[in-house]
Amino acid sequence: MRKLAKIVNLHTVEHHPNADRLDIVKWDGWQCVVKRDEFKVGDLAIAFEIDSFLPTSIAPFLTKPGHFPKVFEGIEGERLRTVRLRGLLSQGLVLPLSILSDTVCPVEGMDVTDVLGILKYERPMDAQLAGQARGIFPSFVRKTDQERCQNLVREIQTAYDNGDEFEITMKLDGSSCTVIYLDNDIRVCSRNLDLKLDEVNSENTFIKTANNTGLIVALQAYGQNIAVQAELMGPKIQDNREGLTSFMLYVFDIFDIDTQKYLSPAKRMEAFNALRALGANIEHVPIIETSTKLMSADIQILLNYAEGPSIVNKTREGLVYKRLDGGFSFKTISNQYLIQSGN
Ligand code: AMP
Ligand code: MN
Repeated sequence: MRKLAKIVNLHTVEHHPNADRLDIVKWDGWQCVVKRDEFKVGDLAIAFEIDSFLPTSIAPFLTKPGHFPKVFEGIEGERLRTVRLRGLLSQGLVLPLSILSDTVCPVEGMDVTDVLGILKYERPMDAQLAGQARGIFPSFVRKTDQERCQNLVREIQTAYDNGDEFEITMKLDGSSCTVIYLDNDIRVCSRNLDLKLDEVNSENTFIKTANNTGLIVALQAYGQNIAVQAELMGPKIQDNREGLTSFMLYVFDIFDIDTQKYLSPAKRMEAFNALRALGANIEHVPIIETSTKLMSADIQILLNYAEGPSIVNKTREGLVYKRLDGGFSFKTISNQYLIQSGN
C-alpha cells in the first residue's frame, strides 16, 4: 500500500523567491510551498502526497471559505493536487507533528496514513468499465502499480551507481486491463477485479475489447500460461488524451504465470509478436529506450525528462522505467500533465 501520509525529514527549507510570506520545503524527491518560518531544516513533519483525500477533521482550512467540503466514500474532506504557487511547483501538503495524538511516537519514514484516516482519491470508474466481478484480482498474477520516483531517491541512486540497465516506455493514460490464459481458462481483469465473462458483462469495454481485438482467441491458440497487461485506451476513458475513436489495448507487460516472473522486454516482444501473428490486433506502449542506464540519479533531472509529447498529445502523462531483470521499476510523471489534468 502507498504511504499517502508519512513522517519525513525536511532536508531543505528556503524562502520562496517570489513571496515574502512563503517558504519552500523539500523531502525525498518532493517539494511543497508552506507559510514562512513554519518549519526549519531537519524538522520532522507529516507529508501528504498528492491524491490524498484528507478528512475535514484534520485539515478544515483546505476547504475554501464559503464552499462545502467534497465528499469521497462518504467522508467530508479535500483532495490534494499539484499546483503552482507564485511560480513554484507545490505538491501535497506538509503539516507539523502537533496534529498527531500523543499516543503516536513519530519517527522518520513512519506511515501515518491510517491513523489520520487518509484515503487515496480515485476518480469513480466509468459505467462502461465497472462490470460485475467474479472475484478480486487473481493472486497468481501481479498487479500493475508503479511507485513514483520521488519516493525512491535511495533506490534510484543505487541503481544509478550500479549502472543498472532499464527499459523506458511511455506511460499512457487509460485504464489497466489484464487478460489471462491459464490452463485453457481465460480471465479478463480490470485493475482490481476479475470480471465475469457472461452476459451480465456483455457491454463491458474491457471484455468487448479483449474479444474484438482477437486477443482472447490468440491467447487460446498460443496456449502459454501468461497474463497480458495492457492499457485500455479509447472514447471516454480518462480524458482520452490520444483522441482515439475506437478502443485499443497497449501492452506494457507480460507475466509468466508458471515461473511467477515478468517476461524480459525481449521475451515480451517475442510473445507480443506471436500474439499479433495469431491475429491479435493489439499495440505495444511506445518504447523510448529498449536498454539504457539511468541518465542521472537526480530526481529533478528524471522528472524533466518525463516531460514531452505522447502519441498525439502535446503533453504525455510520463514515463515508466523497468529494470531489465524485472526486479525494480518506477514511474516519472510529468508535472505539466499533473497541473493540466488537475491531479
Ligand atoms: P498509475 O495509474 O499512475 O497508478 O500507474 C500505474 C499504471 O500505469 C499501470 O497500472 C498501468 O495501467 C498504467 N500504464 C500506462 N502505461 C504504462 C507503461 N508504459 N508501463 C507500465 N504501466 C503503464
Ligand atoms: Mn493510470
